[in-house]
Amino acid sequence: MNPFLELGIREEVVNAISELGFEKPSEIQEKAIPVLLTGNDDFVGLAQTGTGKTAAFGLPLLEQLDFSQKQPQALVLCPTRELCLQISKDLEKFAKYIDNVHVVAVYGGANISDQLRQIRRGVQIVVATPGRMLDIIGRNAIDFSQVKYVVLDEADEMLNMGFKEDINNILSETPDDKKTWLFSATMPKEVRRIAQNYMTDPFELTVGTKNTGNANIEHNYYLVKARDKYAAFKRIVDSNPDIFGIVFCRTKIETQEIAEALIKDGYNADALHGDLSQQQRDKVMKRYRDRSLQLLIATDVAARGIDVNDVTHVINFSLPDEIENYTHRSGRTARAGKTGVSISLINIKEQSKIRQLEKVIGKTFERKQVPQGPEVVEKQLLTIINKVQNVEVNEEQINPFLPQIMEGFEALSKEEIVKRFASLEFNRFLEYYNNAPDLNIDARGDGRESRDGRDRGERGSRAGSKGYTRLFMNLGAVDEFSRGDMLGFICNNAKISGKSIGKIDMKGVFTFFEVQDEEVNKVFEGFKAVDFNGRQVRIEVSGDSGRSDRGGRSRGGDRGGDRRNSGGYGGGERRDRGGDRRNSGGYGGGRGDRGGNSGGGFRDFSGKRRESKSKY
Ligand code: AMP
Repeated sequence: MNPFLELGIREEVVNAISELGFEKPSEIQEKAIPVLLTGNDDFVGLAQTGTGKTAAFGLPLLEQLDFSQKQPQALVLCPTRELCLQISKDLEKFAKYIDNVHVVAVYGGANISDQLRQIRRGVQIVVATPGRMLDIIGRNAIDFSQVKYVVLDEADEMLNMGFKEDINNILSETPDDKKTWLFSATMPKEVRRIAQNYMTDPFELTVGTKNTGNANIEHNYYLVKARDKYAAFKRIVDSNPDIFGIVFCRTKIETQEIAEALIKDGYNADALHGDLSQQQRDKVMKRYRDRSLQLLIATDVAARGIDVNDVTHVINFSLPDEIENYTHRSGRTARAGKTGVSISLINIKEQSKIRQLEKVIGKTFERKQVPQGPEVVEKQLLTIINKVQNVEVNEEQINPFLPQIMEGFEALSKEEIVKRFASLEFNRFLEYYNNAPDLNIDARGDGRESRDGRDRGERGSRAGSKGYTRLFMNLGAVDEFSRGDMLGFICNNAKISGKSIGKIDMKGVFTFFEVQDEEVNKVFEGFKAVDFNGRQVRIEVSGDSGRSDRGGRSRGGDRGGDRRNSGGYGGGERRDRGGDRRNSGGYGGGRGDRGGNSGGGFRDFSGKRRESKSKY
């Protein structure tokens, strides 16, 4: 007998989830479903994302609600729009074979009238983010008098995001005798307090150990000099050719810079952070979900609730300020029973943070060595061999060309041909990693090898041309600007001539452009209060602006070239690049606001908000 049937789930639902590949209940489903099916208890479930929570509460809800009625009977609150959509879609899938089930997703950043219309038509399950829910309650547009169940999903995240008051206000609109089911990855005091205030003797369930990350996650760290972080990161990526990862940074600026450098170096990467409009975020997320992006560079806030399966690596380019966020970050991998790796790139001073993390999550972190050049080259070589072995040959299409191909290679031996094909793909790697230095340092901070200028070349270039300042703007190609539009947009607002503008480098969601040093102030002045589609246009000096005081740089070779040209490495443009970055606190070069927390331990989680939300 199907184990879900045994748990008491009706056949229609079991059929639907079987189609989704649910063969047996996950741990939380197995333990929570029997309790929640009684409908008698408040419930607290301590479980990471990816454990199957949605079905753990969703399946019992489908058993409890009366779908012949069209009033809201269940309210699910969750922190983000992504999660809201995910949950409502999941519920609809579970209910595929039950008639008259109506689920509405209520979230900000989308047209409210559509959501109101759906509510008016009649729904039984409302899945909502707190802000938009309150808005709808404020309009008297929803009747919660028949609500029997409230689910608070990712309660710690909601509190983290400052939704405490909103949750209180929403809960006060629901009947006293409803049951509340709370799910949270962690149990800080604030979540505990909600449980105390709103629940009566809740049934508590912990899946895994408290505060412990998913057992399927391997935690590794790499010890490198701050200034070598980016180069080390690229080596890790290059030695994992099938990586599908989320890279976490601490600030929006760092996120942009890493994404930009990666794009320039030819990787499939883009940034996700709080400065993007909802539309921009959706586009980035869609590309990531579709796997057109291999690396998603994100801030903690922007990545909340991202629910993408098969993420192979979470990379902490910078460790989070708060220890709790490490659990949230690493929980983005190893979902649905899969395995995953959480990697941290740390400098000497941050070793104590690793020890702290080990204590909190109860796991040992393994120190790994940044791969040496030849190792990376070997990995790439194996990938090429693998690709050649597995490529699908379309006999019909290739046959007509074969005589010509054969003739072309007639004079070459098999060995020669193989060598030449491999070199075609491969020379760029060989060149890039030729004599690449050892980036590992020992735990006291000594480098293994003295360096010359060449290792700096492994970093991306962000400098502007001489006499120009490189500026960042938070609009890009996804805003449907052509390069010409962008030039016009800048010149019209800044009231400067097109001649003052140097290179314009349009990315998906942002743009870098060069402006003659003497015109920079006009750009800032001109864009002081410019809106584009309701969003304030933001201009910043780019991370490592190539002011004219940086002369005489090494051409050590930013050979992390452009993979888009299929020439890959080596195809990228070369430019002069930054002078001495040793004081930079790392990759980005010369930003004073970086690394503020790098030396000491983590900030206490207990309720201290981040210094400035806008940084994320
Ligand atoms: P959740 O924690 O609810 O976000 O679920 C994480 C992922 O696991 C989702 O993609 C679910 O579709 C999947 N999933 C949940 N329960 C099961 C199950 N019993 N068997 C297989 N996959 C599941």
